[in-house]
Amino acid sequence: MIDLKSFVRDIPDYPKPGILFRDITPLLASPEALSAATDALAEPFLGQDIDVIAAAEARGFIFATPLAMKLNAGFVPIRKPGKLPFEFHTHQYDLEYGSDELQVHTDSVQPGQRVVIVDDLLATGGTMEACCRLLEKCGAEIVGCSFLIHLTDLVGEARLAPYRVESVMKY
Ligand code: IMP
Repeated sequence: MIDLKSFVRDIPDYPKPGILFRDITPLLASPEALSAATDALAEPFLGQDIDVIAAAEARGFIFATPLAMKLNAGFVPIRKPGKLPFEFHTHQYDLEYGSDELQVHTDSVQPGQRVVIVDDLLATGGTMEACCRLLEKCGAEIVGCSFLIHLTDLVGEARLAPYRVESVMKY
């Protein structure tokens, strides 16, 4: 079994002092680690009739398409403002300083479709909560949220409490 944590690089004080950044670029650059990570993200949702994998830009996109192909599902992008050409739903959420916004096409998911949302990392859960709200506006059934990395000392899991949370690595 491959040790995926050995492919995650710790960068102290990035992007600002006091933050320990988990850099997944070594994992992405390794064919074996990338393949094992994608398998591990898919594993909890195999055989569960998933219609759609959704993800927010940018790092969520990296895993979303291979995951969609593994689970025989489609892919729905969730984007920052100004990127989507068709009608969209918007959800605004709070950051430590200020706020941010994500958007999804109104017709990206049909009511009742079963959706898994994937991201590289769960910290405060703000990004994933926004994704869940947006897809619920489309009528999606959120089957679960799948993360490569879960930072367990933050409040992310509590914030996502109504949803099933799966992760490949915990720190
Ligand atoms: P949250 O919204 O606070 O849960 O933050 C999660 C988002 O921030 C994810 O989309 C990540 O890409 C990004 N992020 C936060 N901390 C890290 C880190 O240490 N490494 C990589 N991405 C991070």
